[in-house]
Amino acid sequence: AHWIADTARERERRTAAMPTAAERYYDDHAPQIERGWRDLLIDTNGRAYVDMVNNVASVGHAHPVLANAVNQQMLTLNTNSRFLYSVLAEYIERLVALAPDPTLSVVMLVNSGSEAVDLAMHLAKVHTGRKDVVVLREGYHGWTMATDAVSTSAFDNPAASGSRPAWVHVADAVNTYRGPHRRSDAADAYAADVVTLLDDLDSKGTPAGAFLCEPVFGNGGGIVYPAGYLQKVYAAVRERGGVCIADEVQVGLGRLGHYTWGVEQQGVVPDIMAVAKALGGGYPLGCVYTTPAIAASLEGEGMFFSSAGGSTASAAAGLAVLDIIRDEGLQQHAAAVGDHLASRLEALRERHLLVGAIHGMGLYQGVELVLDRDTRAPAVNETAWICDRMLDHGVIVQATSERRNVLKVKPPLTLTTEHADVFVDALEKVLYEVEARFK
Ligand code: PMP
Repeated sequence: AHWIADTARERERRTAAMPTAAERYYDDHAPQIERGWRDLLIDTNGRAYVDMVNNVASVGHAHPVLANAVNQQMLTLNTNSRFLYSVLAEYIERLVALAPDPTLSVVMLVNSGSEAVDLAMHLAKVHTGRKDVVVLREGYHGWTMATDAVSTSAFDNPAASGSRPAWVHVADAVNTYRGPHRRSDAADAYAADVVTLLDDLDSKGTPAGAFLCEPVFGNGGGIVYPAGYLQKVYAAVRERGGVCIADEVQVGLGRLGHYTWGVEQQGVVPDIMAVAKALGGGYPLGCVYTTPAIAASLEGEGMFFSSAGGSTASAAAGLAVLDIIRDEGLQQHAAAVGDHLASRLEALRERHLLVGAIHGMGLYQGVELVLDRDTRAPAVNETAWICDRMLDHGVIVQATSERRNVLKVKPPLTLTTEHADVFVDALEKVLYEVEARFK
C-alpha cells in the first residue's frame, strides 16, 4: 500500500539532490516520520517513538498554540521589520524581560543559531576593534564562515586544524570526566589554560577581542563546568579589554530546568549572548542579546538588517513559544523530569559497568558509555549499536561527543515522566543485550 514507506526510495530522493546532508541515521531501517505530537514522533505505519533528540521542538511537536499563532499571522500580515507592528514590540519586550541581567537590554533578531553566533562575533569585533577570538576545543558554533572557523569539533570539521584562520585560538575543552583536569577544583586549572592563551596574545600585540563558548559543554554530552570556571575566565578576558560571548543556542531558554540560561549556572553575565533552536519551537528564529553600548558600535560599520529576522510571523511564533513555556511551566517541568531522569540513569550506572558517567541537568543530559571505568576507553561500537536497537524499543536517541560514545538526551521540554521511564527501561534492556553480545 502507498502508505508504507519506501525507505530506499526516500533515501535516494534525498541524497540525489542533497548530497551534503550532514547526518543520516539507521542506515537500512530508517523510519519514515510523518507526524509529531508533544514528545512523540510517529511513522507512516502509525508507530510512535519517544523522541529524545529534538531540542528545536522545545514546546513539543505540533503545538496547536504555536501553529495557530503562525497561521493567523501569515493570514493577516507577514513582512519584515522596516514597518511598525505591535507583535514585534511585544516580543522584544518579552525577550528583554527574560534576559539573565538587566544590562543585556538590547536584542537583535535573526533566523538561526549560526547567524546569531556570527552576529555576536561581528559585534565583538567592531566593539573592541580586535579580531582575535579565543574558543574552547571540541565546540560547535555553526556553519557560516565565521562560526565554522570557531567550530573546533574534529567530528564536525575534520579539515579544520589545517585551515583554521590565524585569528582563532583554542583552549582546552572543559571536560572534568576525561579531560586533563578532573578534580572538583579543576576550574582553576582550566581557567589558567585560557589565561595563558590570553597573555600570549597580549604579548604578541594581538589581544583577544572576544572569548566565546557554550555555558555547558554540549559536545561532551552536557558536561557542566566546575564551579567558578566562567567567573575566572570572564574576569580575565575583561581585564584585558575583551568581551565575553555565550552561545546559549543549545542549552538556553529553560532546558536546564534549574536555570533559564546556562550562564546562570556559572554565575556570570556575558556581554553578548546568542540564542536560537528552542526560541522558535521549530520555526527558524535566532536572537542576540547585548548591551546598548555594544549594539551602538555597529553604527558606522555597515548596518544590521535581516529580511525574515523579526518579521511579523517570526515575532508571532517567538511570542507563542514564550507564552507556552510560561503557561505550561515547561522550565519547572524540565527540572522535575530531568531530576527524575538523572536519578534513574544514575541507578543504571550503578548496575551496568558500561555506563561510565551521567552528565548534565534538566532535559540536557549525556550518558557516557565506556569499555573500562579506569581507562575510560569510549564504547564506540556499543553506543552505535544501542542507538540502533533503541529504535526497535520505540525510542529515538543518538550519539554525541568527539568520540561518539555519549547518548545525548535533549528531548522536547514536554517529555513526560512516563516517557522518560520508557527511555530508561528500554536502555536497561538494551544494556543487558549489549553486555551479552559484546562480551
Ligand atoms: N551553536 C550551538 C551550540 C549549536 O548546537 C548549534 C546547532 N547545532 C549552532 C550554534 C548553530 O545553530 P543553527 O543550526 O541554528 O545554525
